[in-house]
Amino acid sequence: MTAQFAEGDLVGILTTEPLGRVLDYRAPEGGCGLGDYVEVPLGPRRVLGVVWGPGEGGYDLAKVRPVTRVLEALPMRDEMRAFLARASEYTLTPLASMLRLSTRAPGLGEPPSTRRVYRLGSAEPSRATDARLRVLDVLRAYGGAAVTLAELSAEAGVTTSVVKGLVKSGAVLEEDAPRDLPYPPLDPEMQGARLAGDQIAAGDALVAAVAMGGYGTTLLKGVTGSGKTEVYLEAVAECLRQGRQALVLLPEIALTSEFLTRVEARFGARPAEWHSGITSTERRRLWRMVGEGGAQFVVGARSALFLPFRDLGLIVVDEEHDTSYKQEEVVFYNARDMAVLRASICGCQVVLASATPSLESWANADAGKYTRLDLGARFGVAEMPEMHAIDMRAEQLPSNRWISGTLARSVEARVARGEQSLLFLNRRGYAPVTICRACGHQIGCDDCDARMVEHRFLKRLVCHQCGATKPMPVACPSCKVEGKMAPVGPGVERMAEEVAERFPEARVAVLSSDLFGSARALKEQIGVIAAGGADIIIGTQIVAKGHNFPLLTLVGVIDADLGLQGSDLRAAERTFQLMRQVAGRAGRAEKRGVALLQSYQPEHPVIRAILGGDEEAFWRAEAAERRAAGVPPYGRMAGIILSSPDVAQVFDFGGELARRDGPLRRIGAQVFGPAPAPIARVRGRHRVRLLVKADKGAPLQAALAEWLAQLKPPNNLRLAVDIDPQSFL
Ligand code: ADP
Ligand code: ZN
Repeated sequence: MTAQFAEGDLVGILTTEPLGRVLDYRAPEGGCGLGDYVEVPLGPRRVLGVVWGPGEGGYDLAKVRPVTRVLEALPMRDEMRAFLARASEYTLTPLASMLRLSTRAPGLGEPPSTRRVYRLGSAEPSRATDARLRVLDVLRAYGGAAVTLAELSAEAGVTTSVVKGLVKSGAVLEEDAPRDLPYPPLDPEMQGARLAGDQIAAGDALVAAVAMGGYGTTLLKGVTGSGKTEVYLEAVAECLRQGRQALVLLPEIALTSEFLTRVEARFGARPAEWHSGITSTERRRLWRMVGEGGAQFVVGARSALFLPFRDLGLIVVDEEHDTSYKQEEVVFYNARDMAVLRASICGCQVVLASATPSLESWANADAGKYTRLDLGARFGVAEMPEMHAIDMRAEQLPSNRWISGTLARSVEARVARGEQSLLFLNRRGYAPVTICRACGHQIGCDDCDARMVEHRFLKRLVCHQCGATKPMPVACPSCKVEGKMAPVGPGVERMAEEVAERFPEARVAVLSSDLFGSARALKEQIGVIAAGGADIIIGTQIVAKGHNFPLLTLVGVIDADLGLQGSDLRAAERTFQLMRQVAGRAGRAEKRGVALLQSYQPEHPVIRAILGGDEEAFWRAEAAERRAAGVPPYGRMAGIILSSPDVAQVFDFGGELARRDGPLRRIGAQVFGPAPAPIARVRGRHRVRLLVKADKGAPLQAALAEWLAQLKPPNNLRLAVDIDPQSFL
């Protein structure tokens, strides 16, 4: 390392603390360099920081404290510093929060730890007992690789003292090896699937783009099962051949199990994983290894984008339209957009893969900013499932029943043939509303403006906003009459009851994120179902996300109208995507599938577009509407969310902001609100939002920064900026 700052020089340190600026320190003994990770004193504490540039000076230099120490980690690369700075500017998030996002690896400052390992030595054992010979056999079987003491003694079936005895005589070597080992190498030359049809041209185009190096974004569009994954794995192979690193982002942890096995089959080893489910030891290992080049291929959740890759050559955002790419807490960012930003800075290719792209990506491809590649037919399958609406106005349903006769007959036929059916309902729990039949009172959350959802499995009422739970009351909390509390409407748990009653012979599985203690348990259950472990699957939107159920030939959507309610700008787009994704679950193997959508408004344009299958026509119509309204992606928006325990305070502050809209008006932007947020109270805090609308080309961030700088929020009022808001909660 070449130290750019000698001992005692003034250096500017960006810390992970929310201070709003870079702080001055003095370079420590031995100096330090730009990008070095350091520990610095801050008040009575020591905090993590990065050398961000020369110090600013300009105040009492006698008070400047020295950097405590330079950490044993590779310095942050220029590319990463530029990325964090640009991401911070774009999202209007303090740089410190960005740094925190990129250093989420416990113990990254500690010296690389080691562990004791054992391998075969050259000397003969002093005495050749059976136990000793077994140990040597085990080590020979490892072919020179090192083993820990626990593993070795267990495998040889001996006590650890036997191994220690062999070490004394030199027959076994004892050494310290680094704990954070590189990930097993992947072999890009192994044979992948032989691409066919449209896949060939798409694969060639992506491979050529990766081989050329430099930035570019490609929208890879194809129905579920058309081979998008096979195609982008070819791009990954080329990236590995170039000696660069590849990152695949997936929306749900549940997706990775299948994906990891596929990668192993394709490249001979598993990729490294990054998500909330990995241990802190693995976190630290991966964080170090991506920096040192010991991890070639990472598959992860959105935050993997902030890992310190040494040389990133390809980022794939699979299911790019998925709303879980948008983080809406602490730092508000959309991983899809940040992927494009990072790639443009580090000279890397981006592949956005989806069967139902976001309108943003569709429009970027339409405008020629992204390359678009289309995969037509589904691999080995003739077409998308047959899709029909079931007109619920014509069905006679008893109360508290939701499966129409038409749908039930289709399910029965599948059960008889040994095929699977999926009943889709995007509602967790037993019933969305609990009402008192004596007085009409509905049970709400004490801290939020939300109704409590009954979860029979948990035997509790749960608030889906804040997670608060309470037992189901025997007496109505309002009129005190006992035994009159009744569930209203269906959730997946209630569907399970109806299904058990109607199809007593069938094996039923419910897939809902809250029914599983861990992502692992959920993955296991998905594996069991895919292998044929259930006849009828009842699921929320987690089933819409890319799992393969080869025996599934029928999808029944219980309430296709559900997503069309509400005033969300993206309601039509979301419903269209979700319904097509869910329908795409049917008939993935040899059998053609059928999708039946129960709807009370089958003539609604969105339902018609879903059934008609003319996707381009749907996107064009939706694009025209958004363009006319000047809303994203043809205009820009930012949400300002204010919250406080004090309702008057939050409205006053919001009103004051709205009045001082000079900086916004200067760029032609308009501010709407303050208005109570659709969920006006969460965890006891009153929420108010302002919405800013601007033309597409307007310098929105700069104007917002100037606007918000005019007023300092009172202490207990929180202010969050959401650039390009996705949801309006
Ligand atoms: P998508 O990502 O578009 O959903 P996949 O890449 O998962 O599609 O492909 C769907 C299934 O078809 C997978 O089981 C995949 O292995 C298989 N498949 C796709 N293309 C080919 C091919 N060219 N040769 C063999 N199998 C293929
Ligand atoms: Zn609540």
